Amino acid sequence: MNDMSLMNLQAGKTWVGAAAIEALAAGLRGKVLEASDASYDEARAIWNAMIDRRPALIVQCAEAADVVNAVRFANDNKLLVSVRGGGHNIAGNAVCDGGMMIDLSPMKSVRVDAAAKRAWVEPGATLADLDKETQSFGLALPTGINSTTGIAGLTVGGGFGWITRKFGLTIDNLVSADVVTANGELVRASLAENGDLFWALRGGGGNFGIVTAFEFQLHDLGPQVLSGLVVHPFADAQAVLQQYREALEAAPDELTCWVVMRQAPPLPFLPQEWHGKEILVLAMCYCGDIAEGEKATQQLRSIGKPIADVVGPNPFTGWQQAFDPLLTPGARNYWKSHDFIALSDPAIAVLIDAIGTLPGPECEIFIAHLGGAVGRVATGATAFPQRNSHFVMNVHARWREPAMDTACIAWARQLFDAAAPYSAGTAYINFMPDDEVDRVETAYGGNYKRLAEIKRQYDPQNLFRMNQNVRPVEGRRMM
Ligand SMILES: Cc1cc2nc3c(=O)[nH]c(=O)nc-3n(C[C@H](O)[C@H](O)[C@H](O)COP(=O)(O)OP(=O)(O)OC[C@H]3O[C@@H](n4cnc5c(N)ncnc54)[C@H](O)[C@@H]3O)c2cc1C
Repeated sequence: MNDMSLMNLQAGKTWVGAAAIEALAAGLRGKVLEASDASYDEARAIWNAMIDRRPALIVQCAEAADVVNAVRFANDNKLLVSVRGGGHNIAGNAVCDGGMMIDLSPMKSVRVDAAAKRAWVEPGATLADLDKETQSFGLALPTGINSTTGIAGLTVGGGFGWITRKFGLTIDNLVSADVVTANGELVRASLAENGDLFWALRGGGGNFGIVTAFEFQLHDLGPQVLSGLVVHPFADAQAVLQQYREALEAAPDELTCWVVMRQAPPLPFLPQEWHGKEILVLAMCYCGDIAEGEKATQQLRSIGKPIADVVGPNPFTGWQQAFDPLLTPGARNYWKSHDFIALSDPAIAVLIDAIGTLPGPECEIFIAHLGGAVGRVATGATAFPQRNSHFVMNVHARWREPAMDTACIAWARQLFDAAAPYSAGTAYINFMPDDEVDRVETAYGGNYKRLAEIKRQYDPQNLFRMNQNVRPVEGRRMM
């Protein structure tokens, strides 16, 4: 290795000697990569192909002690640091330019205690890794709807998906976390230990430390859930969305139904003449008794005249992967998101207009369905800011050619602006793109002040700043 110039916390350069880097590498069970290493490009690639950043050093951690060593090294040299779990975050904060990327992706262990219904999960595990192990014991954790997402980033932001209304957000099931703090100490956070840190980790994102192990409460589930898609012509969208809204008013916690609006992909069960045409999909899951689910989904499934209804019993692990083919890594992506307490008629009109101007075949709007157990936790009980929203709109602009960047990003922003008057004002930080740094405070609503205080306590230098950043000094940006 040679002496290296690395990006520091003042956005300047710091020289680090070869001997120091060699000593860091020698103290790891994992390894240190630099640009000349064969696996460097693979290690710095993340889900969103818009992000093409080049860390000077990548520390691939094999265990918590490696994370401690990496953080201490970064601290001693005041280096810019990024933290990578599953590499899915749309903002691309997992990778930095010129600094040190702490890569947790090799740490994938999932250990289940079936009798206690607990799981201990390392931060490089994906949702698929977790589902595979937990479902082997008939257990499940509420997470997200795309199985290649990392458990780490998803959890520290909140985490919701198909069984959240029944079992709560992912963070509502977090029992404890092992955390490497900004000064390189490994501590435990739970209700009983470091309570402030535990509060902040549950929704506060990557601001407070690096989690090296999550302990989760699990729930009995499956192996099958009633789940699937009901596909409507987009021409019927207004009536379908209004009836969807009504049908969900009395929905049991077991029932979750998301909406997806886009051009139809060539799904085998869709008649060919619909491929490439605008559609509205009701994607539903009932996480209880299958026969009860048939009754509970009836009202949703009797809406309008669908082109296809493929709702039926499916393995939970399979349903967790149902959207994976639409959400593969390697495309260019830009997202905009709002929380909605209710789906009002004017909001529906905005959504319909936006589908009329889709800039590409992979662009889509997702409406996530929340409520249920999420809303039964007090807003101040965790850092997650919005417990009352029933819906979260996520505008997925997604395309392949850089020449489409401007049109696709403009489409997402336009829809976001038009929908803003009908939204709750708060936002899910895990759906925020990298140009929303000034939205973080608003996104956290009433919880921001406490987050900033805890940030000051645990990370006064803002070492962990490559995230939806909570500033340790209120009102002043540290970058
Ligand atoms: C296709 C797709 C589908 C999605 N679907 C859902 C969904 O259904 N529900 C949902 O809730 N979210 C969903 N998300 C959002 C997802 O939760 C966030 O993108 C999340 O940040 C991904 O975590 P990651 O570990 O993969 O990402 P990374 O990019 O690796 O990490 C994101 C950030 O999390 C922080 N971080 C990572 N690891 C740690 C750690 N060990 N300790 C502390 N902080 C850490 C860092 O700040 C990092 O920048 C989806 C994202 C994508 C791309």
